[in-house]
Amino acid sequence: MAPASAPLLRHYVDGAFVATERRFDNVSPVDGHLVAHVCEADRATVDRAVAAARRALREGPWGETSPAERAAVLHRIADGIQARFDDFVAAEVADTGRPVEQARTLDIARGIANFRMFADLAKTTGSELFEMRAADGAEVMSYVVRKPLGVVGIISPWNLPLLLFTWKVAPALAMGNSVVAKPSEETPSSATLLAEVMDAAGVPPGVFNLVHGHGPDSAGEFLTRHPDISAITFTGESRTGSAIMKAAADGVKEISFELGGKNAAVVFADADFDAAVDGVARSSFTNAGQVCLCSERVYVERPLFERFVAALAAKAAALKIDAPDAPDVQMGPLISREHRDKVLSYFRLAVEEGATVVAGGGVPRFGDARDAGAFVQPTIWTGLPDTARCVREEIFGPVCHVAPFDGEDDVIRRVNDSAYGLAGCVWTTNLSRAHRVSRRFQTGLVWVNTWFLRDLRTPFGGVKLSGLGREGGRHSLDFYSELTNICVKL
Ligand code: NAD
Repeated sequence: MAPASAPLLRHYVDGAFVATERRFDNVSPVDGHLVAHVCEADRATVDRAVAAARRALREGPWGETSPAERAAVLHRIADGIQARFDDFVAAEVADTGRPVEQARTLDIARGIANFRMFADLAKTTGSELFEMRAADGAEVMSYVVRKPLGVVGIISPWNLPLLLFTWKVAPALAMGNSVVAKPSEETPSSATLLAEVMDAAGVPPGVFNLVHGHGPDSAGEFLTRHPDISAITFTGESRTGSAIMKAAADGVKEISFELGGKNAAVVFADADFDAAVDGVARSSFTNAGQVCLCSERVYVERPLFERFVAALAAKAAALKIDAPDAPDVQMGPLISREHRDKVLSYFRLAVEEGATVVAGGGVPRFGDARDAGAFVQPTIWTGLPDTARCVREEIFGPVCHVAPFDGEDDVIRRVNDSAYGLAGCVWTTNLSRAHRVSRRFQTGLVWVNTWFLRDLRTPFGGVKLSGLGREGGRHSLDFYSELTNICVKL
């Protein structure tokens, strides 16, 4: 039984924090200690949240606010996160076990940046105006106005909690919608803090609602099936996306999906060797491989193959795996013991499928409370055929398979022979090749000689099983608004 002293995380509905009877425990993946009790939303709570969100649009002033007014609110929210920066870092670290430094520089910093960027963008983005003539010669002005979509349902995953949550909440609010948002059951803490910040920033009741809970037959599904939700934006696994698409079909809701990946990094023999080794180590092991953009397939041009594998294995072996506040820690645990079981099942499967384990392949032993956590070793395999499940299925851990290739056509065919199409990396010093090969990737994003470098104004999303639609910059503004064309004969 969990100690009563752990905090209780509640929902935030219609401008007030509310509790529900059913609870679940949120435990640390570092050593299994209890982080918080979390309320599980029932259908009635989700109904109340959606009703409040509708009221806020219909009766409240929110739906009538100007982009500049909303931008001011978004900046106040960003200020509020900034003012409680250390609380947010602590919340993110408690839920995920990630290195404190990563939470500071990536998660929380990007949470703030998301509000500021969409505030500024909403204020400065105009709309189209076309001038034409009617058949009788009269002048015609045809222009476009943006209106809110309505109530937006937001469902987010655990891997970059605040970053991905705010990536959707910020543009939805910027475009004048109200939202009912559900963070992952694994990472409820930073979203709860965000509700406190919204409250303090004077966001009107009902504009931002937070419900906690799980997916199927819980808060997630209640949201996706709710008739008064106009749009669903979801980041998570492709299988979940498919279930949500079916649920959303009845109401013909707008959907935006950012889903899984099995991303490839391609290292040509002419690459800057050290930069490529460093880059692939980052793209495979950052956040213990729990970034949708991580490279789980690495293709290295044959002349470089042996040397590259040895250097990458040395990097993996040298990575400092530890608790979030340990000095020089580089990698934390996976999100949960349950997820670790899944990753370890792939470690076993790889061996059955004939892999050579070049680095890792197991669980680090600490001899203390961390052994109750969810740590795994960064792992590198070679020798698997392209048809192996470990080369085709998303594992979402600190693991990659490295294979040799011979020439551009060979590698592009193998890169694109995937059910997924989120991101890719090309490592080369040949400028023409960089452009030529990048264009042939069947993915939504390609990085050349870098990884995870994001300008938030650019489109983000994947093809095939990796997603539907694009968010980022004006692409987000388009998704989170309804465009109406007004045609005036003068
Ligand atoms: P998940 O799909 O298990 O869960 C994501 C969210 O969906 C959670 O909030 C969960 O409660 C909810 N959910 C689950 N089933 C649901 C249902 N039937 N109806 C409604 N909601 C439901 O994903 P996860 O394990 O939290 O996250 C990891 C996955 O997310 C990986 O596949 C990763 O690649 C993907 N991801 C993609 C991107 C991207 O931008 N493409 C970014 C981050 C993570």
